[in-house]
Parts: sequence; C-alpha cells; structure tokens
Amino acid sequence: MDEQVEGQVVEEELDPERETRRRFALAQIRQYPDAALKMQARPVDEFDDQLATLVDRMKQLMHDANGIGLAATQVGVLQRLFVFQPDEGDAVAVVNPEIVERSGETDVADEGCLSIQGVTVPVERAIEVTLVGKDERGADVRYELDGYSARCVQHETDHLDGVLMIDRTTPEARKEALSVLRPRIVLT
Ligand SMILES: [Zn+2]
Repeated sequence: MDEQVEGQVVEEELDPERETRRRFALAQIRQYPDAALKMQARPVDEFDDQLATLVDRMKQLMHDANGIGLAATQVGVLQRLFVFQPDEGDAVAVVNPEIVERSGETDVADEGCLSIQGVTVPVERAIEVTLVGKDERGADVRYELDGYSARCVQHETDHLDGVLMIDRTTPEARKEALSVLRPRIVLT
C-alpha cells in the first residue's frame, strides 16, 4: 500500500469507465478552500433512514473516488460521521467517532486528501489508536487500529473538527502545498 490516506492509492491507469466514475465522484466532494471543510460538525442524534442513505452515498463516493476514507463535512454535511475502509472486509461507517486512546509512538508519512487534490504532505500521527462510536443503526462500535487504518481515522476525525492535513503538516510543506493549490482557486 502506498502513502496516501484518502486519495487515489496509486497513479494507476484506470479503465475509462472507472476514470469517469472517479471524476464524477470527485466532483461531488467539496474541494479546498470550500468553507464546509473548515467547519465543526455536530453530533448525530437520530439514527434514521436519512442517515443510512447518507452512509450508503458516502461509501459509494469513497469507492468511486478510490479513497479509503471520507468524512461527512467533505460532502457538505455538518454531522459527525465518516466512512472508512478497514484493512479487511467491507467499508464501515463510524458515527460520533471518538479516539479514546492513542499510542505515544508516532510516525510521519505523506497524506493525500480527496478534498485537496494534487498534493501530499507529511503528517505526524499516532501509530495505534482506539476508536469508539456508533454504526449507522446506532449500535456501539470499537476499533483497535494501527498503520494506515489508524492514520486514516485520525485524518477523518480531524475533518469533523474542520482540521485539514495542511493544518497538521510542517510550515514548509504547508507553504509548498498552498502554492500548488492557490492557482487552482476558481471564482465562479
Ligand atoms: Zn481528507
């Protein structure tokens, strides 16, 4: 597995249909500097059909965009939930996620983000975390994660607090990333 947390895993050649789906998915994901990406999401208190529909849509978008995580704020919904792809098995949703334990040991790796296309930045993260929350039906969930899954859920939890990977990187890497991103800003 390569270094990216959320974005396209490798610069693989996708077949034209897959590439079209990826572009379509990315077009539905808020892109930096969209204001929603800087906002604090609110706790979910209703585990209804609407929530289940949102989770299904987010899983599909994450899959189509070749990502391994996607937070609700990235689709403009200010509710505390994200979807992620564990090392094994199907994608899962975590509602009202909380990281209750973090290893003291950290590492630094390059991260990408589906909302910040075209840049990767080094981010220091805890190597192991324990994540608790609910699934989309309101049942308790608990994940003990390491490696890329641990990095992914730290990145997604940050999204729910309006914190982006460029807020967590070194001043130099942030400056470089912003210089790449700035010319992409289009006023419409
Ligand atoms: Zn992201």
